[in-house]
Amino acid sequence: MGLRLAAYRAGYRLAATTSRLSVNFIAVREFRNRAASLRRCGKTILPLLVAAGLLLFWATGVGAADRVPLPRPRPVEAPARAAPPADAIVSEPAEPAEPEAAETAPAPALAAPAPAAPAPSACRLALTEALAIAPSVPPIHGPGACGGEDLVRLEAVVLPDGRHVPVKPAATLRCAMAREVADWVRTDLVALAKGLGSVPAGIDNFDAYECRGRNRVVGAMLSEHGKANALDVRAVALASGKVVSLTDRTEPRAVREAVLRSVCARFATVLGPGSDWYHEDHVHFDLAERRGGMRICHWDVYDPLPAVAPLLPAARPPEAPPRIAAHGPGGAAADGEEAAEEEAGAAPQQ
Ligand SMILES: [Zn+2]
Repeated sequence: MGLRLAAYRAGYRLAATTSRLSVNFIAVREFRNRAASLRRCGKTILPLLVAAGLLLFWATGVGAADRVPLPRPRPVEAPARAAPPADAIVSEPAEPAEPEAAETAPAPALAAPAPAAPAPSACRLALTEALAIAPSVPPIHGPGACGGEDLVRLEAVVLPDGRHVPVKPAATLRCAMAREVADWVRTDLVALAKGLGSVPAGIDNFDAYECRGRNRVVGAMLSEHGKANALDVRAVALASGKVVSLTDRTEPRAVREAVLRSVCARFATVLGPGSDWYHEDHVHFDLAERRGGMRICHWDVYDPLPAVAPLLPAARPPEAPPRIAAHGPGGAAADGEEAAEEEAGAAPQQ
């Protein structure tokens, strides 16, 4: 009986163990089946997952980048960017470099074109080196109303025979004024000098462009000199070595009158001796524009001064009656008569 029970128990244990092993075997086999199924599924799902990931990356990355607002292109007609002040450049942080670069990226297509140089004026084209050595100089703007456009530096006038007549010092003038001066020298002064047996050889420039009031009076109206539209001349040199001083009374009157006629026919304003106290030693020419084209020609051509000043009494002629001698207590009265007599004798000389 005891053996049967032991055998039964051993058989039971064996059956139980076999059953557990069987169960375990089934579980292992099921796990393998599932793993194989998963591998099969993985082969088909993995590409889908990768594709989905790429789609998500595109949607959130590239698509979002498309939505970042970019600066609008700078219009062509926009004014040129003002350069920031030096201190701003120094204190500006380095961070904004990237947006700045993005903003200036289209610069090659949108940069404002540089202002083109103005076309040369008709005067500039006409005032060739066959007429004058007169290079253009930059326009002058200010101070105040001073300055002008289309300026030249008149260095010399070229005569028809090719000789150069230097303007000393060179005169800064508007082109139109320089051209008129050149014409005056080439025609009128050449004819005048020819009558004196010579040719012009130099112009004594007393003043050209200068920012000042009329006659250098503070607060006066702006002189034509301040507009580079006037020239003051003291003298004209001839190749013979003679210097014709335009306001010198000892120069032949005919020569000075010839100059007067020539300049008053050309220039809008001529001021010389007798016009005011500012033009006794030079003559002023300008091309002032006035209403109705009014012109001013005020230059008194003086005669040479007399050798004897007219205010001095003439010498008493020998045939004159003797003076009444002063005598007695009325001497003082006699002195007065003598003085009156001398005054009467001097009167014809005034
Ligand atoms: Zn002047």
